[in-house]
Amino acid sequence: MSSRPSRLRAEVPFDQDGRHHGFVRLYHSVHESAYGFIPIPIVVLKNGEGPTTLLMSGNHGDEYEGQVALCRLVQTLDVARIKGRIIVFPTANFPAAMAGKRTSPIDGGNLNRTFPGDPDGTVTQQIAYFIASVLVPMIDVLVDLHSGGSSLMYVPSALSRRPDDAAGGANALRFLKAFAAPVSYLPTASQGTGDERTLNGLVASLGKVAIGTELGGSGTVTPVALRMAERGIRNVLVEAGILPESDRVPGEAPTRILEVGGNDWFVYTPEPGVFEPVVELGDMVTKGQLAGHIWYPETPWRAPEKLHFLRDGMVLCKRIPGRTLRGDCLFHLGSDTGL
Ligand SMILES: [Zn+2]
Repeated sequence: MSSRPSRLRAEVPFDQDGRHHGFVRLYHSVHESAYGFIPIPIVVLKNGEGPTTLLMSGNHGDEYEGQVALCRLVQTLDVARIKGRIIVFPTANFPAAMAGKRTSPIDGGNLNRTFPGDPDGTVTQQIAYFIASVLVPMIDVLVDLHSGGSSLMYVPSALSRRPDDAAGGANALRFLKAFAAPVSYLPTASQGTGDERTLNGLVASLGKVAIGTELGGSGTVTPVALRMAERGIRNVLVEAGILPESDRVPGEAPTRILEVGGNDWFVYTPEPGVFEPVVELGDMVTKGQLAGHIWYPETPWRAPEKLHFLRDGMVLCKRIPGRTLRGDCLFHLGSDTGL
């Protein structure tokens, strides 16, 4: 990571007690505004000494449950009840969030494939660098709230590193269970999903606790996923020692911890066409079971491609749009870990 300072400027103090809200200024000189800045909202809640948690959403701009949960949190949380500090950054990739897109309309940047960023890079690279070089050094715990976005729908779940991962794994599992989602998972093999270029990957590599979520998706806000996120965020703040133990809301049952491994866990489109799923989210499936068809309406008499699952597991994620291209992810499974 660069040793140069971030060019972004936060209007709020990070070290003063109380509730502070304002903007992180990302100066962006363009035709319409020569000396203007992109205003990325930030809220800092601090009360005395204690741990720091970063609550973030809008890393991908079309994932809305986290953005709503954090808006409600900053309007309802009494700063006098906390011990330590909460930094809330609800529209992290602000241009993407305002456009309702996964990636930035300014530079095409996918913030969660951009860490640790570049202080002199594109807008998205500068945002990543601000988070990595200014926010991350202050924190003990990260909760980065994602969902399936426009193209995917998830069983509402949380995720973290494996407990045997040297980088903060054991603590992460404790926080994952505290989050109290009915189902959570551990990504255990690279699947083109980001690795150390993600914020979770960066924070975990520093030995800090990094929790992510996949709250739903389809470019909408799912009430059951939102409620689960709001409970989970509060429970993580309790687990961190920032909120009192009396604020903890237990889950209906212990969290079922699944694993998402390599290629076998995924089903991809082999040919462009129209995707017909034949299973639903949350279904338990077995190796060889029919997952769906790809149809060819431009050649209605052509037989559909039959797609099968490559292993046993729970259907954790499915593609939403019907039209699909070769290489699109249609499903991924989670398999039981016994953790
Ligand atoms: Zn995301």
